[in-house]
Amino acid sequence: MSPFAVLAVRTPTLPPATHTNAYRLGDCVVDPASPEPAEQARLAAWAGPVRRILLTHHHGDHIGGVEALAASTGAAVWAHADARVPFEVHHRIEDGETIDTGEGLLRALHTPGHADGHLVFRLVGTGHVIAGDLVAGEGTIVLVPPEGDLQQYLDSLARVRALAETLWPAHGPPQPAALADAYIAHRHHRTAQFLAVLAAGGSVSPEQIAAEVYAGIPGVNFELAAMQVLTHLKWLEHGGRVCLDGGLWRAA
Ligand SMILES: [Zn+2]
Repeated sequence: MSPFAVLAVRTPTLPPATHTNAYRLGDCVVDPASPEPAEQARLAAWAGPVRRILLTHHHGDHIGGVEALAASTGAAVWAHADARVPFEVHHRIEDGETIDTGEGLLRALHTPGHADGHLVFRLVGTGHVIAGDLVAGEGTIVLVPPEGDLQQYLDSLARVRALAETLWPAHGPPQPAALADAYIAHRHHRTAQFLAVLAAGGSVSPEQIAAEVYAGIPGVNFELAAMQVLTHLKWLEHGGRVCLDGGLWRAA
């Protein structure tokens, strides 16, 4: 049984996802995300009285309904200090902070990598974690430079994995926490594939690597794929394994 109330509202998010989940516990709502007035009204009716709106992160498909819900309920907006949003934040949530919702305690964990200031919220005393875009129940998580950071993302996955049993993502249904292990393994697998292209010799662009590694994957967005390649290359560059050479990448 779900420890949270969940409502998916339509948002301009990345396909194949079409909706973003809002979660409610006590007087708190996490990520009221839809910019559409009809969806905002549906969410407000579902939410009832709200005192605080908690944000997992600042991406557009998570914050579109924040101002509307704050205006209709008088709720305060809480987010991490590194979250950049086009409206007033009334309280900056710190890593490890405990939030008393009236129906349970949520503990915030700073989990950057996908977005600066990304937070997840664990229901204290349980393995249930509201996971934002740390993982996805539908589609994949994209790391877009410069805020997309692979080492931070791997660290965040490992940190949450260690204390979670069930992850409640922003997109799609809940997932077993072991999904975080699969995500970590997948990122290392991709890194090995990208290195293999570089090991074949020469200097290449992220787009060329993406064209080779992601060839044949149905529905792949090569622009986003090239961004993933770049995120991994920057991580490898930091580790001294690849370098930029005249605008192209090669093995170091
Ligand atoms: Zn996001």
